[in-house]
This record gives sequence, structure tokens and C-alpha cells, in this order.
Amino acid sequence: MPAFSLDPPQTAWCADLRTLAAERLRPLAEKGEPGHVNRPLVAELGQLGLLKRLFTSGAVDLCLMRESLAYACTEAETALALQGLGAHPVHAYGTEAQRDRWLPQVVEGSAVAAFALSEPGAGSDAAALGLRAEPEEQGEGGRREAAREGAGSARTPDASLAAHSDGRTRWRLTGEKCWISNAPEADFYTVFARTTPGAGARGVTAFLVPADRPGLTGTGLDMLSPHPIGALTFDAVPVTADDVLGEPDRGFRVAMGTLNLFRPSVGAFAIGMAQAALDATLVHTARRDAFGGKLKDLQTVAHQVAEMALRTEAARLMVYAAATAYDEDAPDVPKRAAMAKLLATETAQYVVDTAVQLHGARALRRGHLLEHLYREVRAPRVYEGASEVQRGIIAKELYANMEAGQ
Ligand SMILES: Cc1cc2nc3c(=O)[nH]c(=O)nc-3n(C[C@H](O)[C@H](O)[C@H](O)COP(=O)(O)OP(=O)(O)OC[C@H]3O[C@@H](n4cnc5c(N)ncnc54)[C@H](O)[C@@H]3O)c2cc1C
Repeated sequence: MPAFSLDPPQTAWCADLRTLAAERLRPLAEKGEPGHVNRPLVAELGQLGLLKRLFTSGAVDLCLMRESLAYACTEAETALALQGLGAHPVHAYGTEAQRDRWLPQVVEGSAVAAFALSEPGAGSDAAALGLRAEPEEQGEGGRREAAREGAGSARTPDASLAAHSDGRTRWRLTGEKCWISNAPEADFYTVFARTTPGAGARGVTAFLVPADRPGLTGTGLDMLSPHPIGALTFDAVPVTADDVLGEPDRGFRVAMGTLNLFRPSVGAFAIGMAQAALDATLVHTARRDAFGGKLKDLQTVAHQVAEMALRTEAARLMVYAAATAYDEDAPDVPKRAAMAKLLATETAQYVVDTAVQLHGARALRRGHLLEHLYREVRAPRVYEGASEVQRGIIAKELYANMEAGQ
């Protein structure tokens, strides 16, 4: 890629994506129910071939999609991103059987994915997670399953469980996950559970857990963010070696590998929102009569617009630099990903807030673009590592490089 500028096909693709978002995705998003998975919207993302791109192209394309969709339809952007976040661990770390079972449906938009890392007692400090994966004695699983069914469970164990009456490892998952996007309506979850107590990040295993596993229940949470978010309860949910993503006790790598890809793309989402707020502000300040001229004729207003554009462009460059580093497998991906997410999400908050200020009261009217963006822009500074956590990662990488003499 030339030094941080898009080539003509990329620019044209972004323009197409913005048009698709405005014309085909926005009408579907508007029909959705806040707080619930919008399945027709997810299916349309599949129909348009965008979900497939999550798994066939790199981080730069992911960022281009997220930025362009966010510009015109944040709901579509987030639905796309969550399919990627929940299913990337299956794509990158799953077995052939796991990939064959789930990825075609994720790409088609008929199966909804989710990424379940956070817990009530472990958010920023994800390595402290406590959802227990307890190994099960041979034969115990069958007995407990029979007892459940005898007690009137409407659910039947799925095929991968039924196939496991051999000597392979089985676990029971017990505990809670919280603030999980797409929960409890997703069709499967990438779940991070503790297989080795007291081992911190080294004792965590990633499991692919279908939503219909016995003992898995959930509730929706009413959040400021418009997309669906919920809590999950695991009551001795059975999993087997066939459900492990990657290797036992190496699940933290799955989580961090996924976040290294998705953090710059959260930045791209933020930049798409910032650009939408900036463009709306240009139009508004150019047309709004004030003090015998237009708002833009006031130098303080014009300078604020310039500052919004300056910061948005600086953050965009950092996002695409981080995405390019990811695609080139550069050694400094964690630092760049953290910097890109931090700068872009903080910048977008500033830009959207300034846009609200320059629009005055009309921006706060329910249904206005900026009222929507003002709600949307807040959460990305908290999820996938709060801004303070990103600063921690950046500093850790800097000192590690210094010690290594780089
Ligand atoms: C809209 C939304 C969607 C989400 N979706 C998902 C999802 O799909 N899957 C998932 O697993 N989780 C999800 N989360 C959860 C999210 O990842 C956590 O909220 C996040 O990791 C922070 O954890 P916490 O909320 O428990 O805050 P805490 O960890 O309690 O932190 C609170 C605050 O303390 C400060 N702080 C924390 N650690 C440090 C530190 N090391 N240094 C300095 N200050 C610090 C920060 O200001 C931080 O915001 C979502 C959250 C939101 C809001």
C-alpha cells in the first residue's frame, strides 16, 4: 500500500459501501427492534457478500468496511463487526469440523455469533476470569444428561456431544458472562473459561458453545448502546474436546489474537462516525444564519471544524497504519492496535461532541443523526479494552522494547 493513502479501487469500494449502507441497510436497520439481534439485517450483510469478506480479506479491508458502513448505518456496521468478533476465533483457531459446521452460516448471515470474555468480576482484568471449566469423570456426563432429560428438559444434546462417549476430555462450564454483545440471542458463543485455577492468563481455554447446550441461559440488558447486549449463565454446561478452540489452557492467546485484529477496526468504526459528524457539521455551519452571516463565518466556529477534520484524519492514518501492520504480520501489532483504538475512539468522542455543540438544540432531538451518534460513540471507549487499558498496553510494549534494546 502506498504511504497511507487508499488506492482508486479501495476508494471506489468505500463509496459503494456507503451507498449500500444508506440505501439497502439503513431501511432494514430502522425496522429492527432496539436491543435485539436484527436477523434480516445480518442476512442482508450476508447477501451482499460483506460477511464473507470478514474471513477472506485482511485487517485493512475490515477497517474499510467498518468505517464506510459506520458512516451511513452504525447498526449494520456493528452487526457485521460482531459476526467477525464472535466467529474469528473459529476461523483462525477452529478445527475443520468446527469451521465447516459454523462458518458457512455465519457468512450467509443465518447464524449469529458472539464473543464471551467479560464477566461481572473480570472486565479490564480479563485474565482474572472465573467461569469454571471442570473436568468430568467418564460416565458422569451421560448420567447427568439422562437426569436432565428425565427432569423434562426440552433440549436434546447436539451431535458433537452425543458422539462423545469415548475417553476424551469433557468439562462442565459453570459461572457467568456479562455485557456480551448479541447475547442471549446468538446461535453460538466463543466462551473463555478457566481450566486451570490460579494460573491467570495461562489457565484459560476457549470453547465454541452452541446456544442450545443444556444449562446455558441468558437475559438481555437495557444499555445506552443500541445493539443487543446480554448476560449469560452457565449451569454445568457440557463441553468436550471437540468444542475447544485452539488448545486447552491457551485460550488467552485466542482472545488477544482476536482483539489485535479487532481493535484497529473499532477505531475504523469510530472514524466512520466522526466523519459523519464532521460532514453534517460542514453542511450545518455553512447554511445556518447567525449574526448577519453564516455560522462558518465566525472564526471560532471555522477553527473548530478545522480541528475536527485534523484530528479525524490523524486518527484515520493511525487506524490504517495499524491494520497494515497486522496484515504484514509486523512485530509491533499490539502497540499499534492499542494506539489506533485509543486515538480513534477518543477522537470520535471529541468530534461528535463538538458537532453536537455546533448544531445546537436540534442535535439533541431524538432521531437526529447526532443524537444517535452521541449515544453510539461512548461505548467503544470502554469495550475491547478501555482507553486506560490501551495506555497500559502501549507502555508495556515500550518498556519491553527498551529492555530488548530495540
Ligand atoms: C456496549 C458494550 C458491548 C460489549 N460487548 C462485549 C462483548 O461482546 N464481549 C465481551 O466479552 N465483553 C463485552 N463488553 C464488556 C467490555 O469489554 C468491558 O466493559 C470492558 O472490558 C471493561 O470492563 P468493566 O466494564 O468491567 O470495567 P472495569 O474493568 O471495572 O473498569 C472500569 C474502569 O476502570 C478503569 N480501569 C480499569 N482498568 C484499568 C487499568 N489497568 N488502568 C487504569 N484504569 C483502569 C477504566 O477507566 C475502566 O473503564 C461490552 C461492553 C459494552 C459497554
